[in-house]
Amino acid sequence: MKYDATIEFAQRMDLEDPIRSYRDRFHFPQFNGEDILYFGGNSLGLMPKTSKAAVNEELDVWEKLGVTGQHDRWEAYHEYLTDSTARLVGAKPNEVVVMNALTVNLHFLLISFYQPTNNCNKIVIEKGAFPSDQYAVESQIAFHGFDPKEALIELTPRDGEKCLRTEDILNTLRSHGESIATILIGGVNYYTGQAFDIETISKVGHEIGAMVGFDLAHAAGNLKLKLHDWNVDFAAWCSYKYLCAGPGSPGGVFIHDKHADWNGPRFAGWWGHNKKTRFKMKPNFKPIMGAEGWQVSNAPILSMACLRDAMDIYDEVGMSLLREKSEQLTEYLEFLLLKMPDKIEIITPEDPKQRGCQLSLVVKENGKEVFEKLGSSGVICDWREPDVIRVAPMPMYNSYKDIFQFYEILKTILD
Ligand SMILES: *Cc1c(COP(=O)(O)O)cnc(C)c1O
Repeated sequence: MKYDATIEFAQRMDLEDPIRSYRDRFHFPQFNGEDILYFGGNSLGLMPKTSKAAVNEELDVWEKLGVTGQHDRWEAYHEYLTDSTARLVGAKPNEVVVMNALTVNLHFLLISFYQPTNNCNKIVIEKGAFPSDQYAVESQIAFHGFDPKEALIELTPRDGEKCLRTEDILNTLRSHGESIATILIGGVNYYTGQAFDIETISKVGHEIGAMVGFDLAHAAGNLKLKLHDWNVDFAAWCSYKYLCAGPGSPGGVFIHDKHADWNGPRFAGWWGHNKKTRFKMKPNFKPIMGAEGWQVSNAPILSMACLRDAMDIYDEVGMSLLREKSEQLTEYLEFLLLKMPDKIEIITPEDPKQRGCQLSLVVKENGKEVFEKLGSSGVICDWREPDVIRVAPMPMYNSYKDIFQFYEILKTILD
């Protein structure tokens, strides 16, 4: 694709965009009477205009039916999300469930998929992983009586490099071999925006006998995923970033079919119990086959209503069209930023296969100040210590014009 640094070009691209109308389905915060330039969808996706009605619908049921709503409607509420969630991540319906929050789910998954022994107790994570993941794996290691200093292997970029090379990841896995119990890597790193080769990591992870899991907080709704075919053991993600389900909305979980009739360790609760006999309130936990068996508590219906509403929009568009537009939008942003090479460095990989929509920029001088000026000029992006500005154009609601306007504002600030 040949790009141009003109507003006319951006507007023409918008006219040719087959999914441009979806922008109108979202609320944009306003700045001087216009839509703000919103590139913060990797932290909190914008609110669909239908979210309020979706929540109100459930409030109405509560108002009119009380507990009767539980049995008639809410008991199976998460099932409304099964098919769309399965399509989103490339899973079979019995491999996914929506429940809890992301870090909570990581803990529940690790209780099953991290079973350390004296000879096999290491967890592999990427250095600079999202801190919550780091805390979760370290506390899991300590919980089992091992020392995180010895049992946690952090994948580290080569000197002078910001991103990891797949060959280095694989070499680390092979060199630690059978001492690795579990691999838990981000599908896309939140800081650099680097997307990892899930399929290959999963393959090599299995060669050394490890359980392979991914944190897909920055990948679900951003990349095309095929978790079943890639033979991933387990994965978890949140739905308030790329999936626009609102603050604190419930997370998603994937557990491969091959673990469907799991009888290893699991922290159980009544919502994971056989649906037919759950309300008989008997002792003896009988798990539902598949991912639903990992449910613990009944679902937070009000926030799930937002998620259901947002997932209907994602399902309607589909990840193919979203990803197609996303690659071009991000490439356009990259094209414009590369016009200022003396002022900005992009640390996200150039290869579209190794990134989602986000670009992470290092402004060579006064980065924090530049970031603050962007904010006061009506641009929402974010700052991550020590020196990165993250910009995430979302194919669902961002336009080429947004990107061009961002470039003009940034250029003015840098000049
Ligand atoms: C956003 C994010 C989290 C946040 O965890 P919550 O439990 O939802 O608060 C955790 N890990 C990663 C990789 C994230 O990007």
